Amino acid sequence: MTENFKNKLLTGVLLAPFTTFNIGGPALYYIEPMCLSDYKNSLEWALLNNIPFITLGGGSNILVHDSGYKGLVINTKRLSKLEVKGNIIISECGVTVDRLVEESLKHALTGIEFAAGLPGSVGGALFMNARAYASAFSDIVEEVHALKRKHRTIRETLLKKSELGFAYKKSIFQKRTFYIYKVLFKLSKGHVKTIQSTIEEIRNDRKRKGQYAFPNAGCIFKNDHRIGIPTGKIIEELGLKGKRIGNAEIYREHANFIINSGKARAEDVYKLIKFIENEVKQKKGIKLKREINLVGDWDT
Ligand SMILES: Cc1cc2nc3c(=O)[nH]c(=O)nc-3n(C[C@H](O)[C@H](O)[C@H](O)COP(=O)(O)OP(=O)(O)OC[C@H]3O[C@@H](n4cnc5c(N)ncnc54)[C@H](O)[C@@H]3O)c2cc1C
Repeated sequence: MTENFKNKLLTGVLLAPFTTFNIGGPALYYIEPMCLSDYKNSLEWALLNNIPFITLGGGSNILVHDSGYKGLVINTKRLSKLEVKGNIIISECGVTVDRLVEESLKHALTGIEFAAGLPGSVGGALFMNARAYASAFSDIVEEVHALKRKHRTIRETLLKKSELGFAYKKSIFQKRTFYIYKVLFKLSKGHVKTIQSTIEEIRNDRKRKGQYAFPNAGCIFKNDHRIGIPTGKIIEELGLKGKRIGNAEIYREHANFIINSGKARAEDVYKLIKFIENEVKQKKGIKLKREINLVGDWDT
């Protein structure tokens, strides 16, 4: 392990600014890898020293505990190289989804427009198999250059689409054996004007729905397609919109969102999550599945 790597390791970095909830305490250790070798070193350092770790993308699908995270946070934001070869885009995991959308537009490539306005990084989007407007990341991913954890070592490996375990809001990365480094997207040639107007339409739709008006982390719960009603609708039907705990509130514009209406604590959000789960279980007999990732010491 190089001195260079150790110089980049920070302590006590507040995580709230790296989350779209704008909530959460400090990370015991924190690093922003600049290259693949930093990334590997970070993972290996944590494994060798028995330190828990998480990879952080855009922080748009996590709730960090008020006491923070007693481990290493590997923020991928500087792993942000992207290249375009014909209809293929190869992107490092820290590239923002919005930049990926912009690059595809610049090269008249179609297929990724559905992700316009989706906060977060390529890594986070793959981890969650993020989806919107009837499409998902699994539709356009061909292969992933990943880092595989084996005991206390890290190996580079190439995963083909068929090995990525994609399903609704699911990927193999949720097992936390593989970490995403680089992703190869296969798109198609299209027309700039059509691509641009779809992107604008989607961005405006998200704005109209008030998705960016308050800090939030998108949908807290997954939909259950067997039930046939979106989870937001179920919560809305129970009259829970506007319910507050501290400064956390079930969003009036979308009942599957919880917003931070001003200095909310992670504890407030968490209590509200549990409150929704209990109400839905008791009154509708439905056990909700969480989409949000909890980071830190929670009583789960
Ligand atoms: C306003 C708003 C609207 C949203 N709309 C949608 C929507 O329409 N559809 C949808 O699906 N989601 C939506 N979301 C949720 C969120 O944006 C997505 O889930 C997004 O893909 C998360 O990416 P991220 O980089 O922010 O991940 P983070 O929140 O940083 O991380 C999420 C998980 O991914 C893991 N992860 C991150 N990077 C890597 C990596 N390189 N390797 C391995 N694991 C990694 C993390 O460890 C964590 O467990 C929305 C969120 C907001 C705030």
